[in-house]
Amino acid sequence: MMTYSMSPKVKQRLAQPQRLLIDGQWSLASDGRVSEVFNPSSGEVIATAAKASASDTERAVAAARRSFDAGNWARLTPAQRGKILWRIGDLLEQYGDEMAELEMLDAGKPFSGTRHGEIPFAADCFRYYAGWCTKIEGATKQLSTVPDQDFHIYTRREPIGVAALIVPWNGPLVQAAWKIAPALAAGCSCVVKPATQTPLSTVCLAELMLEAGVPAGVINILLGSGSSIGQLLAEHPSVDKVSFTGSTEVGKRIIDAAKGNLKKVSLELGGKSPMIIYEDANLDEAIDGAARAIFSHAGQVCVAGSRLYVHESIYERVVQGVADIASRMTVGPATEPGFDMGPLISKGHLNSVFQKVEAGRAEGARVAAGGQLINKSGGYFMQPTVLADTDHSMSVVNEEIFGPVLVVMPFKTMEEVVAMANDSQYGLAASIWTQDISKAHKTAAAIKAGILWINCHAIPDMAVPFGGYKQSGWGRENGYEALLQYTELKSVIAKL
Ligand code: NAD
Repeated sequence: MMTYSMSPKVKQRLAQPQRLLIDGQWSLASDGRVSEVFNPSSGEVIATAAKASASDTERAVAAARRSFDAGNWARLTPAQRGKILWRIGDLLEQYGDEMAELEMLDAGKPFSGTRHGEIPFAADCFRYYAGWCTKIEGATKQLSTVPDQDFHIYTRREPIGVAALIVPWNGPLVQAAWKIAPALAAGCSCVVKPATQTPLSTVCLAELMLEAGVPAGVINILLGSGSSIGQLLAEHPSVDKVSFTGSTEVGKRIIDAAKGNLKKVSLELGGKSPMIIYEDANLDEAIDGAARAIFSHAGQVCVAGSRLYVHESIYERVVQGVADIASRMTVGPATEPGFDMGPLISKGHLNSVFQKVEAGRAEGARVAAGGQLINKSGGYFMQPTVLADTDHSMSVVNEEIFGPVLVVMPFKTMEEVVAMANDSQYGLAASIWTQDISKAHKTAAAIKAGILWINCHAIPDMAVPFGGYKQSGWGRENGYEALLQYTELKSVIAKL
């Protein structure tokens, strides 16, 4: 039985259509169109959101362009920019309850975990990049090509210009923060497009950014469809950079769309991240860690540990251990406290995950736990699922499922498991579970992935670069490395 009752503030916020932010003004779409926003825990429509038109997109890009060219943001001192970014972090904490409620309602994220995890993490993202504002530096160089003359040579890091930031639905607030904070730190003006499914926290974040002092036109928010306005942003000749997080399939479309003006592109894409449990691992920790790595946020996490390789000597024990955890997990609405796992984002996504499990079953996978849909409170629920005895000929092993579905395979040697782990179009993340330090680091060096965890999984940090090898993406988020991707490098050679 549902006991959640919406807070008055959120009720008031959702009573009106979510609006676009263009040049400091909140507005509905120019043609008045709206889309519905669903609560994945109940299947109910909880809000409507303006659906930006092509002309809204033009206006948003023009506003960002004007503000950038006028230097409204980029020409503030670095310390002034840093103070505003820090203030956004403070406001995020201050409005944390409201923000967590919004994430719970439209992304299906349980309140407590979001309030104490993602909200402070997003706040810290703004504070982390606040610190970088005053530390964006060039270098001095020496010339060898022209002897007997004096030169002064230096490099400058300049903001890249107008950045289009396209965000997915699985981590609406954190993923937006990971893009907006470094873009603003670098001095860019931005047009942000959240996923159609999850506009609520982005709109609230934009309000906080204005309150913190980000000038009009520097931050613009477009709500609506990816294939229309996302595509327009990626194509737009006045956009200098697109940072995209989402599926590999759409990432490839972004590359095609960006060709017109050869805008810079960074892509955080899909994954099918392997976890390797060696025979000498602390098994209780490894089994628990593997279950968390796949079932957190119902597997809708880009670095979810979705392929599990277990040394043959402990294979059955680990399969049983993870299956036992999966079978014990409680699944239910994010709006109710106490469930171990919440809903999937939409009915369409739920059906797609289920179809993939059915395909695995038909290909011969053994269902060690779960495998069924759960009919509860009108929401989009699936049992935590463990598919054992899988192999690399199966689609469940090769395709990203982006749901609570783990595939498990045995291995004999390090060489064999490294080859299996690397046998994927993806290369986002991996984890290695062993007490042998040498084996751990040798395996880490051999795995083709952007981030490796040893005896843990999915621990993020703002200072640690995050991104993928192979078809998991281009570039990195977080750390100084992400900030550099919102800059151009200029070399100046002066004959004295
Ligand atoms: P998606 O690719 O369908 O959509 C992502 C965003 O792109 C949304 O805002 C969407 O509206 C927009 N979009 C869709 N079509 C577009 C187009 N033609 N041009 C421009 N924009 C377009 O992905 P999703 O279903 O929202 O998210 C799930 C996927 O995201 C998974 O594959 C997951 O692995 C990936 N993901 C990756 C990371 C990472 O950091 N590597 C993080 C989160 C999610």
